[in-house]
Amino acid sequence: MKIINIKTYPVWIGHRNQCIIKVETDEGVSGWGEAGLSGRELAVAGAVNHYREFLLGESPMNIDALWQRMYRSQYFEGGRVLTAAISAIDIALHDIVGKVLGVPVYQLLGGKHRDYIPCFATTGSPTYEQLLENVKLLLEKGWNVIRMGSAHIDWGDPRIFEPRESIGLTAEWFIKIREAVGLGPVLGIDYHHRLSVAEATSFCQRMPSGTLDFIEEPIRDESPEAYATLRTMVDIPFAIGEEFASKWQFLPYIERGLTNFARVDVCNVGGFTEAKKVAGWAETHYIDLMPHNPLGPICTAATIHLAAAVPNFAWQEVRVSPTEAQSYPDEEIFPIQHKLQGTRFPVPNTPGLGIECNEEYLKAQAFKFWEAPHLRRRDSSYTNW
Ligand SMILES: [Mg+2]
Repeated sequence: MKIINIKTYPVWIGHRNQCIIKVETDEGVSGWGEAGLSGRELAVAGAVNHYREFLLGESPMNIDALWQRMYRSQYFEGGRVLTAAISAIDIALHDIVGKVLGVPVYQLLGGKHRDYIPCFATTGSPTYEQLLENVKLLLEKGWNVIRMGSAHIDWGDPRIFEPRESIGLTAEWFIKIREAVGLGPVLGIDYHHRLSVAEATSFCQRMPSGTLDFIEEPIRDESPEAYATLRTMVDIPFAIGEEFASKWQFLPYIERGLTNFARVDVCNVGGFTEAKKVAGWAETHYIDLMPHNPLGPICTAATIHLAAAVPNFAWQEVRVSPTEAQSYPDEEIFPIQHKLQGTRFPVPNTPGLGIECNEEYLKAQAFKFWEAPHLRRRDSSYTNW
């Protein structure tokens, strides 16, 4: 069996571009993959097209060797663009091999550890009252792991973000939310790496210990040293890793105990091949995976198979819950996909990833330039989105 084509579809779907790829073989079996570097889809598609040149004619069965070849074939190895491209190809190759052998992808990863994949929900709101209502609605529907956003403040311009004003109000809201829901539910926040070390510390210190079960990306992740400093000043578990593009980026965070939930992203870290290594490494430090899953049904399917195949697992991110609506006609694009049952995904038994993609729909779509908001402080200086 040989790879005869790799197609890239960096196209606008719903409210964003998605970088979807298809690997075709001479035996008629094909596989789907997705790259996770949102906002830079054309760069990733370019990298996929480059790899295509030396993958044509290769056997899709040699996944691990092809991963090494893609990662190590260049002098300037690694980086988010290249690894997102490798991720998409690696996922598609697993889809192909699963289909050829007639087994779900998790069987290729060692078999399943669980019958269903528990998930967490995300919610936010412009007012405290609405946030409390959303949290109560989620709890009523069985979602007992809830990630919240920071308090929304009307600064008169959606491009403004003032960290100091945000942390005071957000802490105030969360103290009240914890009092309202009791000690049972798991509550966390994603601060979207918008704070400095000092701001993140002040935020955590404004709440009684135990208010939050995790804080996701309080600061940017370029510096494990900064996280090590923050670790000495706050006692909330960290959930970090969604931007990491290799096991080597996870290295200091796992080895030095700087992430407590590994937010591995299959579509960014290097596909299943790299994600399984990160999972094993995290297992040696008693760290559970809490995978990042913000894209479409291919990413969701890949994450389900990874989640099924590792012992150390907490919850999978989903962006569809009673407080988050689906934003695009995904049934038309992905006529077969994995659907939530309540708060969890059943572990599938169909071969490969278990999804089907409407290629004609993708062919009819175009790339649309989109840029994440460029946030500023009131003094006009640039700050993180
Ligand atoms: Mg995040």
